[in-house]
Formats: sequence, C-alpha cells, structure tokens
Amino acid sequence: MRLSDTLFVIGGGDAGFGLSGSIDSNVYALSTSEGIWLIDVGLNSFDMILSNARADGLEPADITRVFITHSHADHAGALAQLRRALPHVLIAVAHDVADEIGRGDETANSLARARELGYYPADFSLEPCVVDDRVRDGWQVTAGETTITAIETPGHCHGHLCFHVTDGAGGLLFSGDQVFVGGQILLQNIPDCDLQACAQSMSRLAELEFDALLPGHLMLSMTNGKRHVDDAAQVFSRLGVPKNVI
Ligand SMILES: [Zn+2]
Repeated sequence: MRLSDTLFVIGGGDAGFGLSGSIDSNVYALSTSEGIWLIDVGLNSFDMILSNARADGLEPADITRVFITHSHADHAGALAQLRRALPHVLIAVAHDVADEIGRGDETANSLARARELGYYPADFSLEPCVVDDRVRDGWQVTAGETTITAIETPGHCHGHLCFHVTDGAGGLLFSGDQVFVGGQILLQNIPDCDLQACAQSMSRLAELEFDALLPGHLMLSMTNGKRHVDDAAQVFSRLGVPKNVI
C-alpha cells in the first residue's frame, strides 16, 4: 500500500492493515537512491510481504537493508525467511539483541511465555538468524538525501530501537512498539519492560522533528505525527502513564 512517493506499508496483521499474517507487525518499505529499506519483517509470512511489495511496484531484488525495531517475534520472527529469500540484504538490529536473534533465543524475547499464553501459534518456533549490523544509539545510514538514524528507546522491552529518517521533506519516525497513534504505549508484564525507561525514551523522541509517525501496530499518521509523541511525553511529564494499548 503506497503512502507517498517513497514510503509503502507492505505488511501488517490483525492489529494493523490486514496485509499479511494475522500476528505480523506493520512492515514498511522505504525507497531510497541506494535500494529499498524495510522496517521490521513480521512473524512468518514473508512471502506475502514480498508479494505485497511487488503489487506496489517494488522489486524484492532491490531490497538492500532491513532495520529491526526489536526482537519480539511479531516484528523479527521472519528474519530467517528473509535471509533465505534475499541473502544479500543487510540486517540491522540493536547490539544487545543481536546474539539472542543469532541463536533463536525464545526466552530472551518472551516468545516462549507468550506462546504458552496463546499469543502465538503453538507450532511457531523461532529460527536463528545471524545479523549484519549491531546497532548502537546514533548509528546512521545515508542514501542520497535520505538518512536513517537509530535511537535507542528501551522501555517496551530491552534492545528497542526507533528509526528517525530525515529525507529533505518532513521526516519520518518508525516507532516500533514505543509509541502509537493517540499517544498510546505498550507496557507488558514481561521481565524487560521498564516504565521509567519508556518515559525517558519518550522524552528523547519528543526532541526529534518529523511529520510521519509510523508505529509497529495500529494506525499511522502521515502528517503532524509528532503530536502523538508529544501527547505521551506530556502525560509522562505530569507523572502519569499514557494509555496502554492492551
Ligand atoms: Zn513488541
């Protein structure tokens, strides 16, 4: 689904645009002068995601990079499928989740517990996938006038990244599960969820300039998207807790 001249949403499940597998996070494609960049890959329906890309006029062979917001299986589960389909693509993840993704660790990303509780299919298991770039705060890639910058935003879980894009226009924020439309957040009863860290991460995002807010689930906002981050940051600044999506 084309969102602008360069931005597409090519995946998303029941809590998104119903474009691919039911549990998939939103999957975005950004066309740059040095190939197509994906943000997140969903759980396990990468074939559908590539088919959606083709329907939007994007050639999968032109995909050069993938940026993963965090290691939860609904965002990163399909990495091994991607690796098989497109071996040349460079995969970037936060440095502190690179090893757990590399060994297919189902405990570190809370998959084992979530699967027991029925959030994932009983027969889904995580395939290991060795990544290319172990990203720290401020890591950047530039293609022409497009620059993507990783922002470390722990809170929803450990090793969470948001990706800020400056593009000569209004800018974009791929916010993963850190913040959603309506200023909502996603706290879960998992060991690495941290409310204080989430609040500090929101303060950092509030300092950025961008037009489009592109979260990992639910709706997106192509203009004035910053207001959703500002709303959440303001609630935190009054010692409150923004509305949780679950
Ligand atoms: Zn998540």
